[in-house]
Amino acid sequence: MKDLSTSYGPVRALHGVSLSAERGRITAVLGANGAGKTTLLRTISGLVRSQSGTIELDGTRVDRLAAERMPALGLAQVPEGRGVITELTVDENLRLGGLVRGRVRAAELERVYDLFPALADRRAAVAHVLSGGERQMLVIGRALMSRPRMLLLDEPSLGLAPRIVTQIFDLLRSLVERDGLSVLLVEQNARSALSIAHHGVVLNLGRVVASADASVLADDDQLRHAYLGF
Ligand code: ATP
Repeated sequence: MKDLSTSYGPVRALHGVSLSAERGRITAVLGANGAGKTTLLRTISGLVRSQSGTIELDGTRVDRLAAERMPALGLAQVPEGRGVITELTVDENLRLGGLVRGRVRAAELERVYDLFPALADRRAAVAHVLSGGERQMLVIGRALMSRPRMLLLDEPSLGLAPRIVTQIFDLLRSLVERDGLSVLLVEQNARSALSIAHHGVVLNLGRVVASADASVLADDDQLRHAYLGF
């Protein structure tokens, strides 16, 4: 995406943001509260409109398309907050994710269960009884059911125990390496995000202040102290 500027009324949240998320790589978008991370994801998925700039998905411009067309083009978003339908079972929640592509394939469902064995064990349980970590796996699994080429994740580590964060992040990394999925990972937990990401982009007050290999960002003491909080 190039030169994206997005406002909420008079509040400008993004000022000319450019970045690219490469195929088969995890790109972490980092920054403090209010940096514009969520706005960036919402702009990419079409939930909010940018005032200017362009967004391309595999070479096709998508920045003027309706949000509901994006899943069919291979984009899936996991919003912050782990929203599952608590009255439905794990299986039913996953199947809903597949519906955006028309019909649910049994093989796709099994692929998600292979990835998250904890969900396979609880496929008939209502989502209400799941732990926070299991709910996070369920929302990621639901997004994967649409067979995305690009996955947008908003703060998946929020409120989870470090051990669970490591487990989920390791799974993401293996998924990316195995299937060539592209992941744009928004995180305030910069240390964990940089440990699995290939590339990192740091936002501050709606602007890109750094963009480099994840290991370069993790080793930059000045940047870490100024923007990343570790
Ligand atoms: P957080 O981690 O707190 O979600 P963030 O980096 O995701 O932070 P955004 O939520 O994208 O940041 O917010 C960027 C700026 O846009 C902030 O100044 C915020 O107050 C403002 N903003 C976000 N959503 C809205 C909205 N719906 N209406 C008005 N202003 C908003």
